[in-house]
Amino acid sequence: MFKEGLKIVLSGPSGSGKGTIVRKLIMHEEFKLSVSATTRAPREGEIDGVHYFFKTKNEFRSMIEQNELLEYAVFCDNYYGTPKSFIEEYVKNGKDVILEIEVQGAKQIKAIYPDALFIFVMPPSLSELENRLVGRNTETEEVIRKRLERAKEELSLYKEYDYVVINDTIEEAAKAIELIVYAEKLRSHRFKETIETMLNNKGGF
Ligand code: ADP
Ligand code: 5GP
Repeated sequence: MFKEGLKIVLSGPSGSGKGTIVRKLIMHEEFKLSVSATTRAPREGEIDGVHYFFKTKNEFRSMIEQNELLEYAVFCDNYYGTPKSFIEEYVKNGKDVILEIEVQGAKQIKAIYPDALFIFVMPPSLSELENRLVGRNTETEEVIRKRLERAKEELSLYKEYDYVVINDTIEEAAKAIELIVYAEKLRSHRFKETIETMLNNKGGF
């Protein structure tokens, strides 16, 4: 019944668990991740083209000039951006595409795709956020401090989102997002075509 998939924007402070939740969601084949470009260095285990397209600053600026990005932003001294190429293709094939992006990018996506679904992921507390960022052990103390400072600015924008999901446990947070997506697909405006076709069908009863 639903030919097109959804565009799902997932934001939230660094360390709130977005990446972990996304990894769980994309185990279901209806979900696809929009792979972003970034100038930050790969973390251990991150693969170019799978987790990110890793770019130099010059390469990234050239992507901007060539109009290859749907949106982009600077986050803690690095560029991050969404390539234009995949999203429309996935959505047309009925896949629900997840854009795991920060708040400035989410705002740009809202202007382009007002019908996208906007979900904000929160940690249970600020101290737990710090524990998770430190525990992940992927950033220097200096970068962790910058990311924690940024977290409060991001939290203050929660009202721009349709839903807030508290990532207490991964299982519950992923389940909440699956349920939100399920409900979003049942919104009445999405039935316009189906119901109009029924109403215009002369055969009927
Ligand atoms: P983000 O993508 O939002 O920056 P990550 O997914 O990398 O966050 O998660 C940050 C750290 O917290 C990781 O080490 C991850 O394993 C851990 N983590 C994520 N969700 C939970 C959770 N619900 N409970 C405990 N630890 C979590
Ligand atoms: P990280 O370095 O932890 O992978 O990501 C840092 C921040 O950049 C996270 O909030 C993440 O959601 C965001 N991000 C990742 N890809 C993109 C993107 O394509 N565009 C924007 N605007 N933000 C992104």
